[in-house]
Amino acid sequence: MEIKLNATVIQRIEITPDLIKLRVIPRGWDLPVFTPGQWAMLGMPGSAARCASADPEMKDHDTESIIRRAYSIASSSKANEYLEFYIGLVRSGALTPRLFNLRLGDEMWLSPKFSGMFTLSQVPNKFNAVLIATGTGVSPYMSMIRTEAAEGIRHRFAIIHGARHSCDLGYHSELTTLSDVSNVLAYLPIISRAEDEPVPWKGLEGFVQNVWTNGALDKAWGIHPTPEDTHVFLCGNPHMVDDMIEILGREGFRRHSSKNPGQIHVEQY
Ligand SMILES: Cc1cc2nc3c(=O)[nH]c(=O)nc-3n(C[C@H](O)[C@H](O)[C@H](O)COP(=O)(O)OP(=O)(O)OC[C@H]3O[C@@H](n4cnc5c(N)ncnc54)[C@H](O)[C@@H]3O)c2cc1C
Repeated sequence: MEIKLNATVIQRIEITPDLIKLRVIPRGWDLPVFTPGQWAMLGMPGSAARCASADPEMKDHDTESIIRRAYSIASSSKANEYLEFYIGLVRSGALTPRLFNLRLGDEMWLSPKFSGMFTLSQVPNKFNAVLIATGTGVSPYMSMIRTEAAEGIRHRFAIIHGARHSCDLGYHSELTTLSDVSNVLAYLPIISRAEDEPVPWKGLEGFVQNVWTNGALDKAWGIHPTPEDTHVFLCGNPHMVDDMIEILGREGFRRHSSKNPGQIHVEQY
């Protein structure tokens, strides 16, 4: 079976050896319209080489087929010439070592359709939105915020982004700038290994859960969010998601589904 690669890498930005932003364009077809927060599938053939820092592969992959995984789109839905993805290396993984080996001009596979319900269309206009992420879980929020910034921001937002080290906060400068020029966007980065920082970290220390429980968000907003005024989005590490659902549940927030509308929206990686 011939493997058809249908997209080209136009930019590879290395944040750390284990974190990259990949910008990709379709080859010979148009990107479909998408809603910020949705995801695409990326793929590489089993025959593609792994990056040097990856673990050796334990299992042989079929060289004739494509290894595919889901990735949230980080670019604005207004930037319809390319898609940006924010990707963490899983050294033992099947696909990410192959994605990390990609260079400018290389070919890859991109799904022609995008999916997902983790979008702001679930949030009524008068509600605030708190967007909580660990690691690469910030990707869908970048698409939401970049698109809102272009269209006119409709909600009051807070982005709470947790990582181990400050260098892992891959959108720190962009989000700082956006929050500096906006009076409706609060950006609250938090790191869990401040003791390792080469330059003392002056920001929040701990886990994203602490930003909710210790009053840092209330200070930034001047109010404590309630289910009557706020929807909360959770994306990334499954432990963080479980913890936050418990914390929010004690305050009356309920998980959203199409049958039972609530205020908590979840995307688990
Ligand atoms: C809707 C959705 C959106 C996603 N968006 C993104 C995104 O924007 N950026 C991104 O980097 N990833 C994202 N992911 C995760 C992605 O789909 C892959 O699971 C991940 O990149 C690992 O792929 P892999 O083939 O290298 O590892 P695999 O071969 O699939 O996994 C190898 C092992 O690593 C574990 N593993 C998987 N992910 C991680 C991780 N992040 N850290 C540590 N261990 C892990 C697996 O449980 C497994 O045991 C998303 C997942 C979903 C479901």
